[in-house]
Amino acid sequence: HDEEAAAKAAAINADNGAPTIFDKIIAKEIPSTIVYEDDKVLAFKDISPQAPVHVLVIPKFRDGLTQLGKAEQRHGVILGQLLYAARIVAEKEGILDGFRVVINNGPSACQSVYHLHLHVLGGRQMKWPPG
Ligand code: C5P
Repeated sequence: HDEEAAAKAAAINADNGAPTIFDKIIAKEIPSTIVYEDDKVLAFKDISPQAPVHVLVIPKFRDGLTQLGKAEQRHGVILGQLLYAARIVAEKEGILDGFRVVINNGPSACQSVYHLHLHVLGGRQMKWPPG
């Protein structure tokens, strides 16, 4: 029933194109522990880590990418930059030998923040299949 509650909570936060908390993190109005940053990408530690290493990789300019399901061909470059940044994060965090990259898309995948983000997880044995 925890899972049901989480899915419901996520569903309330539907994709409505409104600004998200990540805008404030990008603007540094809310402090975060930054792991990697360049002009296009920001990577910071998740406030509620699900593994010893749990970093979020986000585009600084959302540009319609509230979720991966909204991706268009023009987003190809930033999507590649995000994935490459995930690899940089994994190396910086010392988990290059084993890490997982996750994108939750939409309510049934428990997406809660509608600004595209990659979860980079590691530092423990990951299980398969994921929940
Ligand atoms: O995939 P999902 O949308 O659920 O992921 C959002 C993530 O953003 C969560 O892991 C949550 O802990 C994280 N978060 C954060 N800092 C905030 C708000 C959410 O790290 N201020």
